[in-house]
Amino acid sequence: MDAETSPPRPISHHLRGALSACGGVWRRAARLALDIALPTLCVACREPVDGEGVCATCWSKLSFIAPPHCPRLGIPFVYDPGPELLSMEAIANPPAYARARAAVRYDDVARTLVHALKYQDRTDLAPAMGRWMARAGTELLGQADVLVPVPLHWRRGWSRRYNQSGALARVIERQSGVKLAPQALRRVRPTQQQVGLSRSQRATNVQGAFKVAPDRQSQIYGRRVVLIDDVLTSGATVDACARALLRAKAASVDVLVFARVVDTHKPPI
Ligand SMILES: [Zn+2]
Repeated sequence: MDAETSPPRPISHHLRGALSACGGVWRRAARLALDIALPTLCVACREPVDGEGVCATCWSKLSFIAPPHCPRLGIPFVYDPGPELLSMEAIANPPAYARARAAVRYDDVARTLVHALKYQDRTDLAPAMGRWMARAGTELLGQADVLVPVPLHWRRGWSRRYNQSGALARVIERQSGVKLAPQALRRVRPTQQQVGLSRSQRATNVQGAFKVAPDRQSQIYGRRVVLIDDVLTSGATVDACARALLRAKAASVDVLVFARVVDTHKPPI
């Protein structure tokens, strides 16, 4: 997904960010001192928490997506219509990719996690988020040859320092053993932020924005690709990426995201 307004950073994040610039023993000692002085807070509700990430209350508010769901789009069904039945969306607007899966619905707690990872350098959240994704994508990962993260444009990558999709993909690589090709897909032109655009404007905005790097064609040619992103909203970004991968002769493209927007007003089939 593309950027939304960045929430303010608490002081502890600035301190932790500064510490990560130090190395080795000093960093560990300073981090320990900081953790005693500033207890770890739940990223969603700011209550103190054991370990890292979210507290038990916020965890219970995450809506993990489990079957039954649309076999193509991964949209959860209210009841099980049978194994082969597709959602209305998959029939009306079939995507370029074969299948999409998401760990959770994009609701309040999920949004807080995504923003913390994306804008507050909370890379410590990636292991948990990546593990939930690996679980949701078990079927796709079992049939995959390579993982490809959705790239940032280099200017945005520079200002934001790292690619959150890449951070999630590295965790999924460790979990699944599927090899990561972090540089395979490039954003070849800058795109406007997707927030506030209509479905068709989003599609136009990202059309032709991605390309498989000429020196990475061999990582994609004939391979079954799982594309990794943090959030799936309209699906326009992952669709444009899937088209670029298929033009480079990927055997298939599936999509695995942390959170997907689920329109609760539309009934399933
Ligand atoms: Zn909490």
